[in-house]
Amino acid sequence: MIPYGRQEITQQDIDSVTEVLQSDFLTQGPQIPLFEQNLASYCGAEHAVAVNSGTAALHLACLALGVGPGDMVWTSPISFVASANCALYCGAGIDFVDIDPETANLCVKKLRQKLERAERNKTLPQVIIPVHLAGQPCDMKEIKQLADQYGFKIIEDACHAIGGRYDNEPVGNCRYSDITVFSFHPVKIITTCEGGAATTNDKALAEKMQLLRTHGITRDETLMTKVSDGPWYYQQIDLGFNYRITDLQAALGTSQLKRVDEVVAKRHQLVQRYNEKLKKLPLLHLKQTSDGYSSYHLYIIRIQTGETDISHLEIFSKLREMGIGVNLHYIPIHTQPYYLQLGFKPGQFPEAEKYYSEAITLPLFHHLRHEDQDRVIECLSRVLR
Ligand SMILES: *Cc1c(COP(=O)(O)O)cnc(C)c1O
Repeated sequence: MIPYGRQEITQQDIDSVTEVLQSDFLTQGPQIPLFEQNLASYCGAEHAVAVNSGTAALHLACLALGVGPGDMVWTSPISFVASANCALYCGAGIDFVDIDPETANLCVKKLRQKLERAERNKTLPQVIIPVHLAGQPCDMKEIKQLADQYGFKIIEDACHAIGGRYDNEPVGNCRYSDITVFSFHPVKIITTCEGGAATTNDKALAEKMQLLRTHGITRDETLMTKVSDGPWYYQQIDLGFNYRITDLQAALGTSQLKRVDEVVAKRHQLVQRYNEKLKKLPLLHLKQTSDGYSSYHLYIIRIQTGETDISHLEIFSKLREMGIGVNLHYIPIHTQPYYLQLGFKPGQFPEAEKYYSEAITLPLFHHLRHEDQDRVIECLSRVLR
């Protein structure tokens, strides 16, 4: 089976992890701050906080922005469930903004209309989480303008998008957001095995996330609410979690981060090859915007169901039978049983549901060989014919 995604691990990656294994610290050593510095500097952000998953980063980002019971968070229905779950972890409500059918990112026009309604009903959201689907940046300038107008905060879910650029600047610099969140799961652009991070230009937000990733415990006497008992003393001043990343993972992250531009450039080459060779098939591609440079975490096609006799399900199943590890990103979150039980209804976000009935993710990863890519193309052409 040709998988839809696969990590790339070099000898340099292996060496950097082995070195840490033989050092004094397996966790909470010097590799974590080093990775954080490297990440912040790559993204052009002032602070980076590394944690043990993208999901943990989303949770901490919400908490740092004060999301809690009585608040509302909005995101895109076409994302991984974690983009919405993070609001529920905080006891807040969640709602969705339907996608733009061309990009499959959250639709700014629908966002504006929904905000106008919410203002009248006094149900404005505290936080909006735009998701850069497949690595293509959302229309952040417009979203930021609406944030200034309506007073909500922005968390960019850039779990797909490290190495992507918006307006010629790296995703993660938080020029148009409060916090940006990344995932370093093995299928993503770069990996730390499990792992994630949040970047921000706000020192207080960074400190809050640092505190909460390690139980809400501090050893900084200036933050303590009573005088230290002695050199052993630490104080829990908030309720946090164990969301720490390890030094092993951070070392892998630093090593992987060195190649991120090269990895994204390779993805662009492979995408161009797909685009060229799939031109004649009844497919739609996600529109690439002029101010965005996608990291191409995923290569997503949409079947033009009107133009072929074979169903989406049949196409998908046949490709799997032929050894092509196609996938589907994503099942609209609001149609998940857990979300239906919260009161969401099928049909509520029609563009997301239409997208779901047409989308297929084709294999795309750094070491995808041309012969394997050609096999994917040939199988897809055969199935569609
Ligand atoms: C992968 C992913 C997450 C969660 O990241 P983990 O590191 O797996 O916890 C969140 N949002 C999106 C869009 C993702 O693709």
